[in-house]
Amino acid sequence: MYNIVLFGPPGAGKGTQSEKLIEKYGLTHLSTGDLFRKHLGEGTKLGQLAKKYMNEGRLVPDEVVIGMVEDKINETKNATGFIFDGFPRTTAQAEALDEMLSQHNLKINGMIALDVPEDVLRVRIQERGKTSNRVDDQDDVKISTRIKVYLEETLPVADYYAAQNKLQKINGVGEIAQIFKDITSVIDSY
Ligand code: AMP
Repeated sequence: MYNIVLFGPPGAGKGTQSEKLIEKYGLTHLSTGDLFRKHLGEGTKLGQLAKKYMNEGRLVPDEVVIGMVEDKINETKNATGFIFDGFPRTTAQAEALDEMLSQHNLKINGMIALDVPEDVLRVRIQERGKTSNRVDDQDDVKISTRIKVYLEETLPVADYYAAQNKLQKINGVGEIAQIFKDITSVIDSY
């Protein structure tokens, strides 16, 4: 049973690699971005609340995100482990996650951080924007906001796991298959 945080800036390839990891390890994918987009599509109260933050590329408030993740963990029965994708994005979220997992006698095995330079991220997000239907992928200002928010609010989360000796960095540029191989060697070492 592994619980892994897949970390990286927007456009780092977290979603792509998560899909492959779920298939290989049978883990449950917990992407807060996907969950919010589902709520948005279904027009729930939570979706309406998250919408303005998402469309501007800003973070949804911690208590909202944490509550949603808690529900998802509690309703997932017989899980063989989770891949957390796009969560935690603040140190407060990371602390809350540790707390939630410890209530189920679980812990994070490690954080795998995909390293991708900013110019590559921009090109990838713009490419994705052509087909993703995501408002936040379509506009240079929003893309810049997301990268800025990542650098200022989310990057400290890597320090949180580094302090627990749980951080592994992976080069996120190159062939998808090679990046996947590098990630699996980290997981297989847990
Ligand atoms: P993502 O698909 O992970 O890029 O997330 C899309 C958007 O959803 C983000 O730009 C935020 O507005 C919101 N979001 C997703 N995950 C989180 C999180 N852990 N904390 C705050 N906001 C989030």
